[in-house]
Amino acid sequence: MTDRSVAGFSAVTERLASMQERIARVERPFAHDVEVIPVTKGFPGDAIEAVVAAGCRTVGENYAQDLLSKVDVIERLGVDVQFIGHLQSNKVRQLVDVVSLWCTIDRRSIIDEVAKRAPGAHVLIQVNATDEPQKGGCQPGQVAAMIDQAATAGLVVDGLMTIGPTGQPPAAARRPFEIVRSLLDEHELAICSMGMSADVEVAVECGSTQVRIGSALLGPRPVSTIR
Ligand SMILES: *Cc1c(COP(=O)(O)O)cnc(C)c1O
Repeated sequence: MTDRSVAGFSAVTERLASMQERIARVERPFAHDVEVIPVTKGFPGDAIEAVVAAGCRTVGENYAQDLLSKVDVIERLGVDVQFIGHLQSNKVRQLVDVVSLWCTIDRRSIIDEVAKRAPGAHVLIQVNATDEPQKGGCQPGQVAAMIDQAATAGLVVDGLMTIGPTGQPPAAARRPFEIVRSLLDEHELAICSMGMSADVEVAVECGSTQVRIGSALLGPRPVSTIR
């Protein structure tokens, strides 16, 4: 582990407190709590130790191999894992014992694979509300069908997840976040997972219930470990 990451992890508790202050200052349209989900992708198991020491019980992870390399610490600490990365069907089987919420469900084939390998699993439908072709997620107009297909397959749909536009100022996330929040209300779902380090304020203003925070808690990610 590098010196920089040691320093970063020792600051996690203070950084979490300042993130919670940022969130508390936001005027919000709904009287709702906002949970901070630390994103530990690309960091070693020590990052998970640090966020658990700071009081978190759930982490977000993106990459199958990276996640599987941390199974020991995850099991020892009893933390819940949200899978928030692009999900390939051939990775689902390896992940079923460690993932408790599948946040990137966006197509029929992945619904069928998760339902087969993890019957009754809890999921979020990922929505691409920014019209960016490189981004995962179903179109807003497909959300009803996805919810239906997932429920029919025996999965439990807890809510929706979205990612703001890439390379844009935070304000550009407002419209897509509003679209996703209104879909959440239309379908009477509980979890609205939107907002990252840069656009957390906009997300909470638009009604996010879970923000996924990586760099603002843990510092810059060690790119070499990302795969
Ligand atoms: C990496 C990632 C995050 C965290 O991003 P930061 O900008 O580091 O807060 C949140 N959500 C998803 C889906 C991610 O891939």
